[in-house]
Amino acid sequence: RQAAYAALKDLPARTKDGTDVSLMLNAGLELDLDMMKQAGADGVGLFRTEFQFLVSESLPRVNDQIELYKTVLDKAEGKPVVFRTVDLGGDKVLPALNLQREENPALGWRSIRFALDHKGLFRRQLRALVRAAGDRPLTVMFPMVTVVSEFEEARDLLMKEVEWSAQRTGRTPAKVEVGVMLETPALAYGLKELAGKASFLSVGTNDLMQFFFAADRMTPHVSERYDLVSPSGLRFLKEVSDSCKTHGIRMSACGEATGTPLSALCFVALGFTALSMSAGSIGPVKQMIRSLDLQAFQPDFLAALDAPEQDFRNQVLALAADHGI
Ligand code: PEP
Ligand code: MG
Repeated sequence: RQAAYAALKDLPARTKDGTDVSLMLNAGLELDLDMMKQAGADGVGLFRTEFQFLVSESLPRVNDQIELYKTVLDKAEGKPVVFRTVDLGGDKVLPALNLQREENPALGWRSIRFALDHKGLFRRQLRALVRAAGDRPLTVMFPMVTVVSEFEEARDLLMKEVEWSAQRTGRTPAKVEVGVMLETPALAYGLKELAGKASFLSVGTNDLMQFFFAADRMTPHVSERYDLVSPSGLRFLKEVSDSCKTHGIRMSACGEATGTPLSALCFVALGFTALSMSAGSIGPVKQMIRSLDLQAFQPDFLAALDAPEQDFRNQVLALAADHGI
């Protein structure tokens, strides 16, 4: 199998009927970038910048951040890299910040909420990203946005750093793209307001599904209750996909679910053409995509979603088998 996946490395993730899906890498460490070529990824769809914070005893200095981001861009060799700004708090505790214990950390002072309340830390990170890009394109996305005003506040801080960099160094990124992670159901119903403001949206299934199903992703007793391949999960994602199309928002997905061929199949059938996943998933997902006749599969899939059988997961599996996927 590994050999079969390796043989696909330089082939496009293109469906039989010609839809290209870009398969990107989820990364967080410098060494993850070495997997990019090996896995045949089209870029980095999620770079989790908080990893550098989590492995440091004290807050990483701006220069260390610049160095890491530069290396990541160098190693990507011009392929797109999406830097996700610090996603701290929740299950990602930072010893250096001495945060208070919370009753419900997943719902607490975390991610963009935390960043916007620690403006010094956040602005230093944004500065580091701008400096690291130099005159290369820069793509940044903000985690766990709930309301559009959080996105706007964070985007304004980033653009201020871009302006300052222009004044001080005379250099600005060739292009700045600012996107948002869709991790809270609330934002799914705020896409109308987000239109024209965010360059793109990336569905973070780990958080989004834990909130959607009210099932903690960290608690083994309940984490199995959140199943993306279920009528309610997929109907919700279909609404998101339709809403993105209506409002002209480019969409992609990251989060662990994208890496399983079955859920990746569901994403593609819902209209997603960019998926970011861990390196080991790229081969199996590419193989699935290359065996898919999307135009033939999609109507059957949507009909199943409309009138699901009791065991929906097996229904989708059987459907896939019928279609030779
Ligand atoms: C997600 O929530 O799906 C996601 C990609 O972010 P993380 O897993 O880092 O919280
Ligand atoms: Mg998340």
